[in-house]
Amino acid sequence: MKQQQYDYVILGAGLSGISLATQLNKTDNIVVLEKSKTPGGLVKSIHIDDFWFDAVLHLLHFHNPEVEKSLKKLLGKTFKPIAPKADVRTAFGTTKFPFQLNLGGLHKELAIECIAQYIEKAYTQPPKVNNFEEWLLHSFGEKMCEVFFFPYNNKMWKRPLASLGTRDFIWNIQNYNIPKVLSGLLPNEAKVESYNSNSWYPIPKKGSKKRCMGLLIDKLAKPVKHQIKLQEEVVEVDTKLRQVITQSSAGRSVYKYKKACISTIPLPILQNISLPKISNKIQLKTNGVLYAMIMLKGQKYDTANLWDYFSDENIVFSRIIYMQNFDPHTAPENKWSIMAEITYKSEAKKLNYKKVGQKIKENLLDLKIVNKKKDFIKIHFEDHEYAYAVFEKNTSKTVRQLSKKYLKKDVHLLGRYGKWQYLSMAQVYEEAMKKAEELNNTKF
Ligand SMILES: Cc1cc2nc3c(=O)[nH]c(=O)nc-3n(C[C@H](O)[C@H](O)[C@H](O)COP(=O)(O)OP(=O)(O)OC[C@H]3O[C@@H](n4cnc5c(N)ncnc54)[C@H](O)[C@@H]3O)c2cc1C
Repeated sequence: MKQQQYDYVILGAGLSGISLATQLNKTDNIVVLEKSKTPGGLVKSIHIDDFWFDAVLHLLHFHNPEVEKSLKKLLGKTFKPIAPKADVRTAFGTTKFPFQLNLGGLHKELAIECIAQYIEKAYTQPPKVNNFEEWLLHSFGEKMCEVFFFPYNNKMWKRPLASLGTRDFIWNIQNYNIPKVLSGLLPNEAKVESYNSNSWYPIPKKGSKKRCMGLLIDKLAKPVKHQIKLQEEVVEVDTKLRQVITQSSAGRSVYKYKKACISTIPLPILQNISLPKISNKIQLKTNGVLYAMIMLKGQKYDTANLWDYFSDENIVFSRIIYMQNFDPHTAPENKWSIMAEITYKSEAKKLNYKKVGQKIKENLLDLKIVNKKKDFIKIHFEDHEYAYAVFEKNTSKTVRQLSKKYLKKDVHLLGRYGKWQYLSMAQVYEEAMKKAEELNNTKF
């Protein structure tokens, strides 16, 4: 077996792995091992028949000025602010996103019932909530839960909401103060600001060789291109021998690490391939997301929204995304496209793409988003098994314990699936910045 020695071996060339590699000391000898053909992980651009898609739709939103400065510098003028405008379509009516800030879109009696319960909850002594279902109920009241939060989250999580933890994975549900929720009852013109309104997306000139968020990865990975080994699947991490074994079409290779191994690959995978076993196996559950990239001709659906949410369980997707409202040049002349997101329990039977594709077409025709059956050109699927970590009651605590055990063996966990935490792209970059600083300042 081919054997090579490095200071650091990084597992996974997603945004985390690449960001870390670019920020470690230049004098260190680094290798990044990636099982796919291309770097980027979830952040990739897909090009099919002159249509451009994101493998997973991403907007960058910033909370740390240092991260904002670095990433904006990298993408330069192509990087444009974009406000995430969206509708929430429920069985009771349609309103703007976020639902709790836009009750005015519902019919009057329903909106009043929702707001009255919201106010009542705000004035009630908070009970001890034991699970996600109770947290939703206490935070928003029965009516908002009945209209949107329960059906939408049931559809999204596909497991009893009472079996899920309280706050670990609620990264995009916010409680607002009463005046803000009340102002959402006003007519549409007086809208309050929406969730993550400081969002950015790359929109290069027409004819550019590459579009969508993959542009960020191209720019970021450039200085470490030669350190990334593609199509090398990590199949063993031996913490005693301080080595990582990969499998590629050329066979197995051994990568020894002197200083540390940093893992950004999903924690359940790392647990399975660690030698000796780090602890008794902890079962970590995840929801996958299937992305349907729908190429269309004919009359383009008339909306200014970037995407819409659907809570009705008879509709197969939970969100559809209008690609040309991000970047008009993501479809060829006279054509247009949509992406549909379908979540699934990773432990369940694999989705049948053909059946899902038929259901998507039926739903889009019924919703009058697509006019005619013959307007569908083609649907391409991208399946991401690790999309949403599922947090049950003790998940966070056991992950923290596991992370400490790995650290004692000089294996550092990093990234959204490595750390098993809800991290956005900007947070992933920030975590990599912190890890690089820590490692660069450690005397080995
Ligand atoms: C549906 C969805 C929507 C999102 N939307 C947004 C958004 O709008 N804005 C935002 O900021 N963030 C968003 N995110 C979060 C964002 O995608 C992540 O924070 C980020 O991409 C995580 O990067 P990562 O490198 O940690 O993980 P990954 O991208 O998963 O990278 C891990 C890498 O490890 C590789 N790998 C796995 N196993 C092995 C193995 N055995 N050997 C070698 N390599 C391996 C994988 O191929 C992958 O390249 C979204 C996430 C999802 C799921």
